[in-house]
Amino acid sequence: MGKPYEFILKNGLVVTGSGIEKADLGVKGEKIAAIHSSLSQNDADRVIDATGLYVMPGAIDVHTHPVYEDDLGGLSVTAAHGGTTTLIHYAYAKPGMKLVDAIQQFRDEGLKKSCLDFALHGTFFDPANQVEEIPKAFDLGVTSFKMFMTYAKLKWMTDDYWLTAAMDLIGANGGLAMVHAENGLVTDYFEDRSLKRKEDPKKNFIKTRPDFLEEEAIFRAITISTVTRCPLYVVHLSTARGIVPIQRAKEEGKIIYAETCPQYLTLTDRDLQKKGPLAKIGPPLRLDEDRFALWKAIQTGMMDTIASDHAPKAKTIKDPFFEAAFGSAQAETMLTVAYDEGVNTGRVNPCRLVQLLSENPAKIFGLYPKKGAIQKGSDADLVLFDPTRVWEIRQSSLHSGAPYTLYEGRRVLGKPLLTMQRGKIVVENGEMKGISGTGRFLPTKIKKVTCS
Ligand SMILES: [Zn+2]
Repeated sequence: MGKPYEFILKNGLVVTGSGIEKADLGVKGEKIAAIHSSLSQNDADRVIDATGLYVMPGAIDVHTHPVYEDDLGGLSVTAAHGGTTTLIHYAYAKPGMKLVDAIQQFRDEGLKKSCLDFALHGTFFDPANQVEEIPKAFDLGVTSFKMFMTYAKLKWMTDDYWLTAAMDLIGANGGLAMVHAENGLVTDYFEDRSLKRKEDPKKNFIKTRPDFLEEEAIFRAITISTVTRCPLYVVHLSTARGIVPIQRAKEEGKIIYAETCPQYLTLTDRDLQKKGPLAKIGPPLRLDEDRFALWKAIQTGMMDTIASDHAPKAKTIKDPFFEAAFGSAQAETMLTVAYDEGVNTGRVNPCRLVQLLSENPAKIFGLYPKKGAIQKGSDADLVLFDPTRVWEIRQSSLHSGAPYTLYEGRRVLGKPLLTMQRGKIVVENGEMKGISGTGRFLPTKIKKVTCS
């Protein structure tokens, strides 16, 4: 006779958004089958001693770009090592491409290569030719759509006309509009002026992208989302100023969610001055006052999610700054860095972190409580996290294809030791046990939710 469980996670501290409780978890098949004060050792094929460890729902990273140094397979590997169990990638519909073709391509590649379950956001690069396909994307299980309000020179920008057209269709179909909110034309003017004046592009990077431009773009996105009745999600919020219009919209009862990333919570323009092109990301790393305001927004409940904005580029510190690509590798360090900077400093407790990294993203994208929850019947998507483990982040021990990490040499307290997806161990003590191509595609469904 088979035993009641495949795994028992014994004596762990189970962390959810509502509290921490010492309990044993029984895992059967793909699901959490029991949460009990004491399960018998004999009832499982394997008992994992979780004494002194946090048992958390795996992180759900809803902001990833699998088109650079990590593809959909590689990204799932590096993310799994960091304690992430679900990814929501941006499916890039580049100019000349159909949105539905992009979605199908990313889905097929993910099904072939990903070791983690994943969903997709539609991402517009040529909205004039792509927004009409929005209703068709819903049939494919894609219900959230990203627009860039910046990168005009790169021709990635969605202008207000097409932002309105997209939000009109997204709202009417019950979806969610996501924006990279920075005023692209003003940024481009400042950048051109700075080039003409032959200013140092690194020293002036933050000056060509002032915080006002994020605040303005957020306000504009909120305005357009209000008149089109479309729910809005602001990705990678980076400034204190940007918080203000979101706060007001929330108070007015609008459906709006705010995301920030570990890099904006831990690093500043000082890091950019030291690391140059490696730390060139958009929006830019800001000032301490912004970083502290973002933590405050996490504490007050205003911030809804933390995601990685994983966009690993093949950059070196010697590359010319102006030509260097935007982006950095962040998926694998997300949980550890957020934990170290948030919990170890006393800013938040682990429950709040679980809300932002797992519960809220699952709720917003309609994956809860299958994902993002430790409940009987939920997918056994779990991470065992050792809050006492001191280690030093080194690129050489990470798994991204990016040749560097912005956290090189940072000593942190707290490490994910084991990642489990749907009852199967994906990573254990740094060893990859997951199998590429076992990840499933998750259709999303946007729900009106109040985040915790
Ligand atoms: Zn991004």
